[in-house]
Amino acid sequence: MSSNIHIESIEKRYPARGADPEKLVLRAFDFRIRSGELVALVGPSGCGKSTVLNLIAGLDKPTRGAVAFDRPVDAINLSVVFQQPRLLDWLSVQENVGIVLTRSHAALSQQQATVRSLLEKVELPEHANAYPQFLSGGQRQRVSIARAFATTPDVLLLDEPFSALDELTARRLRLLLQSLWLDESRQRPTGVLVTHNMLEAAFLADRIVVMGGTPAEIRDVIQVEIERPRHPDDPALFEVHRRVMEALQSS
Ligand code: ADP
Ligand code: MG
Repeated sequence: MSSNIHIESIEKRYPARGADPEKLVLRAFDFRIRSGELVALVGPSGCGKSTVLNLIAGLDKPTRGAVAFDRPVDAINLSVVFQQPRLLDWLSVQENVGIVLTRSHAALSQQQATVRSLLEKVELPEHANAYPQFLSGGQRQRVSIARAFATTPDVLLLDEPFSALDELTARRLRLLLQSLWLDESRQRPTGVLVTHNMLEAAFLADRIVVMGGTPAEIRDVIQVEIERPRHPDDPALFEVHRRVMEALQSS
């Protein structure tokens, strides 16, 4: 079951590292993400977007405050997609997707069906037995998206998932993510997308959180009212883009 996420008045300080002094990235950062919602975090590079994502993922601990879900964190099924696909080179495409499924998820035959249907969804069924080094960057990222959905995540975190890809490939993958998001046969997770692409945020998100400053604060929260499925060239996206840019520059 997807879950609300409450980022409860978080402080995050990174200790001094070599010549770099201690850094206060977040102070009393507080935000609530509703169950089943897709929120985009945007803001200048280095403002703390990945820090927020990593704290939600439990990959790092806040100095103060906490991230709360509706249930204890061990009962939350969480998937992360990074900029780099992070596949295992020695496993085939279908093994890379299936590896996240343990015996607790379902019987083997059902797991194989899950993997197969996801590979179809990401348009890679004919590459099921291929190894990652023989795939293009876009194909590899499609495998990592399939892997992220394989466990039916309650929370899906995406950290600049398309920014290493050329624009045409990125556009196809955004459409693919939208179609997985809208797929009624799948549980919709609560999503958090970090991106520096404002049009991508407008295309995918329900709300856009505009961050800025040091320590980072929330400059604006923009509700995207465009109905889904959305079209990547919908002029309404540019109006959202304009509002995000306005919020970013109002400092
Ligand atoms: P963004 O994702 O918005 O580009 P990050 O959250 O990655 O920003 O980083 C925020 C700030 O914290 C940056 O100044 C970065 O250099 C610093 N930072 C990130 N991770 C660490 C770390 N592990 N140790 C020290 N400083 C870090
Ligand atoms: Mg980042």
